[in-house]
Amino acid sequence: MERKLIPSKCPLCGGNVASGTTTFTVDLKTGLIVVRDVPALICAQCGEEWIENAVSIKLEMITDRARLQNTQLEVVLMV
Ligand SMILES: [Zn+2]
Repeated sequence: MERKLIPSKCPLCGGNVASGTTTFTVDLKTGLIVVRDVPALICAQCGEEWIENAVSIKLEMITDRARLQNTQLEVVLMV
């Protein structure tokens, strides 16, 4: 798994980065995509989030599919 883009310390504030989950939302103009429980690394200090490559590829696939289907609102659980 590609992890080299994920910092061990926050480059913005130097805080500790811990793994957790986040909610990813995309406004498609025609609708809104909400993906819950997206695995992410989150800075404990400033709240900056990083999503791994493998995960963001999955998010792109969800977004593309929803765009093709002209979805109004799609809530997806990811884990
Ligand atoms: Zn930070």
